[in-house]
Amino acid sequence: MRHSYLFPEFYSSWLSKRLPIAPRESLATCENCAMVNPSGITRDLGPFFGHLKCCTYFPYLPNFTLGTLGEERYQAAKKNGVFLPVGLYESLQAQGIRNSFGHQGFGREEKLLCPFFSKSQNSCSIWAQRPGVCTTYFCKSDYGQMGLEFWSKVEKYLNHFEWKMATELMTRMGLNENEIAYCQAVVSPETEEDERDYFIQAAWGKWFSKQREFYQESCRVALGITSSDLDKILDPQFLELEKSISSQVSTMK
Ligand code: SF4
Ligand code: SF4
Repeated sequence: MRHSYLFPEFYSSWLSKRLPIAPRESLATCENCAMVNPSGITRDLGPFFGHLKCCTYFPYLPNFTLGTLGEERYQAAKKNGVFLPVGLYESLQAQGIRNSFGHQGFGREEKLLCPFFSKSQNSCSIWAQRPGVCTTYFCKSDYGQMGLEFWSKVEKYLNHFEWKMATELMTRMGLNENEIAYCQAVVSPETEEDERDYFIQAAWGKWFSKQREFYQESCRVALGITSSDLDKILDPQFLELEKSISSQVSTMK
């Protein structure tokens, strides 16, 4: 897998000064998917189908990433997704279909394919902007089990980065903790079906009829956030995790 960053290239302006270059990984050969004939230590059991690979998944995309998508990809995401000010989530209906396939569906069920997967290219159509969960998915690692655990640590960090950036942007754009709580209520399985539409509307507030504009503006505002602003935005334990990731990379040669 072509991989020199620990994060998606789109996050470079925020993270390239904070995290080191990624350790070399040569076993996850995405063009010729290694999980078609899995061997050795692998993250999932497999085998996967080569035309689906590990993209039978619906990732969360934060608001500032959604602002970079063209019309075609934006519309594709709408089909099985729900747009919220904090970002894009898989709809509950699509989650239900996913759950009905269980673990067996991963890598093997076309109905679960990500809306951003390009069938004609047999690869991700938003590679530079794919989220942390995808960037850190290695089906196998040059460093064995330790490498898989390392990537899981980086995933945890990137999930936090995405959530904190997305909620910071909501605040900077006039939405507050109530709207953040409404977003959480929309995706909670505890929420009653007849309440969900109300929560979606409440989450968007004054932006309800201007969702695409909201995402584009959140991307613009995000570009004004500097790497050093993140010292205040990220939670202290994730600043520690960042140091731990950097120090671990220096041992992975
Ligand atoms: S990371 Fe995904 S696409 Fe790449 S080799 Fe592994 S399963 Fe295949
Ligand atoms: S965003 Fe890209 S890498 Fe992630 S699941 Fe979708 S197609 Fe695959």
